[in-house]
Amino acid sequence: MTIRNDDDRRFADLLHHRAARLEQGDPVTPPLVSAATYHLPRVDQGGFMYGRMSMPTWEEVEAQLAVLEGAPCISFPSGMAAISAALFAAVLPGKRVILPSDGYYTVRLFAEGFLKPFGVTLDYVPTVEMAVADFAGAGIVYIETPSNPGLDVCDIAAVAARAKAAGARVIVDNTTLTAVLQRPLELGADLVVAADTKAPGGHSDVLFGHVAGRDDALMQRVRDWRKLSGAVPGAFEAWLVHRGIETLELRMARMCQSAQVIAERLANHPKVGGLRYPGLPGDPSHAVMARQAQGFGFLIGMVLESAEAAERFLEACPYMARSTSFGSTHSAGERRARWGDAVPEGFLRLSIGVEPVEALWAGIKDGLAAV
Ligand SMILES: *Cc1c(COP(=O)(O)O)cnc(C)c1O
Repeated sequence: MTIRNDDDRRFADLLHHRAARLEQGDPVTPPLVSAATYHLPRVDQGGFMYGRMSMPTWEEVEAQLAVLEGAPCISFPSGMAAISAALFAAVLPGKRVILPSDGYYTVRLFAEGFLKPFGVTLDYVPTVEMAVADFAGAGIVYIETPSNPGLDVCDIAAVAARAKAAGARVIVDNTTLTAVLQRPLELGADLVVAADTKAPGGHSDVLFGHVAGRDDALMQRVRDWRKLSGAVPGAFEAWLVHRGIETLELRMARMCQSAQVIAERLANHPKVGGLRYPGLPGDPSHAVMARQAQGFGFLIGMVLESAEAAERFLEACPYMARSTSFGSTHSAGERRARWGDAVPEGFLRLSIGVEPVEALWAGIKDGLAAV
């Protein structure tokens, strides 16, 4: 599956977002400014004041992200910093917080450790059941689709409509697809959160995150959270992410195309079970994603017969980084049960990178031959 053409303008605008602001002699690429303090003889004349409030290099990446998301964006030093900011900005006393039971596990650890002690009721719902879950009394409905690592999905528009009817705010973690492939704000989400550590940074050399949203009051709370808690990104990290995002759409196209080819071949391999790739027509996530996303992503889930078999596969596959995380230029694989995810011992999450697909497939075949 390739990316549809209707977004070409957005991806082109993203590459030229600075153009209209440039003066004679300005650098075409964003300057890396790490200054903490700014010339400030008066405080009533605007401009930059102090680095915890704003910084020129964050503003560049935020302007770029705003083109991608089609909405104002606020940057953070990691995906979790963005997620915790969104949750603290939106949480209401006496209201339930609905979280996916099968999403990124650190979100559950964070909520248990830092929301529950203040009396917030946490309720966990599997991603596939979000569309029918009871949202009565909820203040926040938080979803992640497709979920990491299981690649289950829910219908964002349907969940958002039911959550809104119950008076809840909807936060969508869009990390696994990015705004290149999925636009939750268009489908009714109040806030999008994303780990730019993954595909947007794209080279496994930076942690970063952002919150996107169109509700001014809610976004002001997210901005105040950053300023007052001090969870601010570094200038160099912002600069790296800006550089990464310039090739995001290009990398995503290659990665999704290769993932489709590899998933189709894995489907016919006798040693592979429990295959999940939403781009396969028989995958349980296929129909919903074909409707609400513009591609099926670069993550593949598969089960080999044991933990040992899965580890042997990773060892023997020459083009699979044995690391956690995903979305980088290089393919990476990980046996998720080693972190305690609720998956079989032999379950592997593969993140398909930008290697030429036939070389990558040859390496995967070598890996499977060694199992
Ligand atoms: C990685 C990830 C995060 C957290 O991002 P960090 O940059 O590691 O804090 C959040 N959600 C999802 C779905 C992720 O994959």
